Amino acid sequence: MSNEHNLPGGPHFAFRDGELHVERLPLRGLALSYGTPLFVYSAASMLEALAAYQRGFAGRNARICYAMKANSSLAILQLFARAGCGFDIVSGGELKRVLAAGGDPSKVIFSGVGKTRAEMRLALEAGIGCFNVESEQELNVLDEVARSAGVVADISIRVNPDVDPKTHPYISTGLRGNKFGIAHQQALTAYRHAAGLTGLRIRGIDCHIGSQITQETPYLDAMDRILDLVGAIEDAGIALEHIDFGGGLGIDYNGDTPPRADALWAQLLHRLDARGYGDRLLMIEPGRSLVGNAGVCVTEVLYLKTGEQKNFCVVDAAMNDLPRPAMYQAFHGIVPLSRSDATPSPWDVVGPICESGDWIGRDRQLAVRSGDLLAVLSAGAYCMSMASNYNTRGRAAEVLVDGDQHWLIRERESAGDLFAGEHLVTA
Ligand SMILES: *Cc1c(COP(=O)(O)O)cnc(C)c1O
Repeated sequence: MSNEHNLPGGPHFAFRDGELHVERLPLRGLALSYGTPLFVYSAASMLEALAAYQRGFAGRNARICYAMKANSSLAILQLFARAGCGFDIVSGGELKRVLAAGGDPSKVIFSGVGKTRAEMRLALEAGIGCFNVESEQELNVLDEVARSAGVVADISIRVNPDVDPKTHPYISTGLRGNKFGIAHQQALTAYRHAAGLTGLRIRGIDCHIGSQITQETPYLDAMDRILDLVGAIEDAGIALEHIDFGGGLGIDYNGDTPPRADALWAQLLHRLDARGYGDRLLMIEPGRSLVGNAGVCVTEVLYLKTGEQKNFCVVDAAMNDLPRPAMYQAFHGIVPLSRSDATPSPWDVVGPICESGDWIGRDRQLAVRSGDLLAVLSAGAYCMSMASNYNTRGRAAEVLVDGDQHWLIRERESAGDLFAGEHLVTA
């Protein structure tokens, strides 16, 4: 269990004088200025997470492409772009965000099983670095789109290595039964096919086996399976410049202990060198591990309801802001912003939405009163980027903290924003 002495995201989220701070700022002050629910991120925490990968790849020919679906707010993309990252995108909308944030399109790779022709055209016009193609039909469509635009599309094929990442079924993507990638045993055929298409230029190979992975073995297994294929594909006369190992490294939600990025890559690079592939262009697509522990969501306690079986602590954040518990029964630590000596009791922390699935934490030992402020921890990844407007709730505001400075990086959505594009019938 997270406790206040060792919060995930520490040392940048820590209690000082009894008050939870992000870097040098008390969260309470930010909540009072901007209201709740409020996402607050630590720039230092994100840059340190990135630095662990950069250390891991020191002296290598490597590119880190932030998988921006984890958190696609413009200022966060700007932070990673300035730090030299490329981006892994999964839609045309994400590409527009990269461009708006000042990202370099040539460092963009485009993943996803359902790219439309319009998205392909947009990406070709922007001059992205590589398409990660996920099916034979997609190869044909991309070839056609590229030729009709008079350009050649750089591609890699996403291969499904069929290894078990030992994570939640909804976030495991590299098993045979998943919709992602081309099956390992069909990959060589797909590469041969791609080599014959004049609108495509083969650059590399890629895989991504899942998310919130907390062990090393699935990565090592996937690497072995991919390198076997690289050998077979190159034996067939098709050169591969880069190998992309995807993302998926886990973070600390509830005392989880994933390997550190630099330690994991020391092992993986050792294996890669031993097999003679250490000098390739190496690409990775980390998402959650760069931002997940770098953000919290501050929420206010509205009402306490004590019942016969359960006590409910109703807060102003909900499943539309923090969808992970409802979607994957996921755990987020929850702590009051101020320390108190009051005796804690068990509460189910729930939001105001009209769904029983709208819970944020179950059976949490908390000393709370209405009006108190709580921080929902490890909320930097797959929270705001998955937020919805269900119940006509505007999405929360976001603040980025750097030392003792802070910026409002997203304004709270108003109800007017939500129905601005809707029309009444005028008959
Ligand atoms: C989601 C995704 C990632 C990032 O996964 P994390 O678990 O957030 O690191 C990387 N690559 C692809 C193709 C993805 O879909």
